[in-house]
Amino acid sequence: MKPPRFDYLQPETVDEAVAALAEYGSEAKILAGGQSLIPLLNMRLATPAALVDLNRVQGLAGIEATPSGLVTGSLVRQAALLAWAKAQPAWRVLAEAISHIGHPQTRNAGTVGGSLVHADPSAELPLLFVTLGGRAEVEGPSGRRAVEAQDFFQFLFTTALSPQEVLTAIHWHALPPRGGAAFAEFSRRRGDFAVVAAAAVVRVDEEHRISGARLGFSGMGPVPQLVEIEPYLAGGAWSAEGAASALAELVAGLDPPGDLAASPEQRRRLARVLGADVLARAYQRAVAVSDSDREGR
Ligand SMILES: Cc1cc2nc3c(=O)[nH]c(=O)nc-3n(C[C@H](O)[C@H](O)[C@H](O)COP(=O)(O)OP(=O)(O)OC[C@H]3O[C@@H](n4cnc5c(N)ncnc54)[C@H](O)[C@@H]3O)c2cc1C
Repeated sequence: MKPPRFDYLQPETVDEAVAALAEYGSEAKILAGGQSLIPLLNMRLATPAALVDLNRVQGLAGIEATPSGLVTGSLVRQAALLAWAKAQPAWRVLAEAISHIGHPQTRNAGTVGGSLVHADPSAELPLLFVTLGGRAEVEGPSGRRAVEAQDFFQFLFTTALSPQEVLTAIHWHALPPRGGAAFAEFSRRRGDFAVVAAAAVVRVDEEHRISGARLGFSGMGPVPQLVEIEPYLAGGAWSAEGAASALAELVAGLDPPGDLAASPEQRRRLARVLGADVLARAYQRAVAVSDSDREGR
């Protein structure tokens, strides 16, 4: 099908984009990589009066590592961030996650910001954003504001942004000292959206005891779900049995959807398996970082 008619605007600055959105009220949509929006237009599931194309706006495509983390412009292509992260040992978890997003063609066009604002409940980058932590920079008619990662996703395909706001940049928290992270997902075919995905961050002390842990899932609810794994693991050495029993309890408390891809019970089982995998690998990576820090001293 062809999309309905719409006005097409090509602002060259964020201010112009905000003004264009304001002109149309909630009837305009931002166009970034178009990998989610264009299919919705073609299927007439979205019928905006205007598209505000961000692709000519300068300054939204930077990737910058800082001491506290990573700042990516909203228009950074998923493929560009994947290529960058593959060469950065500290950010390998980003490469691990992005390599599961769609196909090379979709990653060449699809943007980091578009993936976050689209807020698909199975998407990889929203899960990482919530698990690593960070904040989004947003500009709208009332100026700039920051939205913390845990407040960004509100419901299925719904974020804290108003229709008149532009996501300009994403700040991703760096891993903690002596920290490791890992990502895994199950999808029915390579390139499909995940049925369930899991991401973990684990921190260890100098004796390799776990001193912090974060674990998140996508595909287990309307938004990425963080579970309170830390109290179960902190203070001890890694124990696969301990992690399995913590996961059994925590995952039983989630209320995943059932659909053609998987029943709620199949999703819970996947979450237990993937959760154990990412926790174990994040722990191993944290231990490796801790040991190499010690050798470097
Ligand atoms: C075949 C195929 C397979 C795919 N597989 C996956 C997958 O496995 N995992 C996955 O996560 N995604 C997948 N996708 C989706 C892909 O990652 C999209 O690129 C992404 O969801 C949206 O990014 P985009 O830049 O294309 O945004 P667009 O499609 O241009 O926009 C998406 C939405 O975000 C809004 N938006 C975009 N940028 C901004 C901004 N800066 N500020 C405010 N609003 C904004 C738009 O208005 C729109 O509502 C797939 C897509 C295709 C076509």
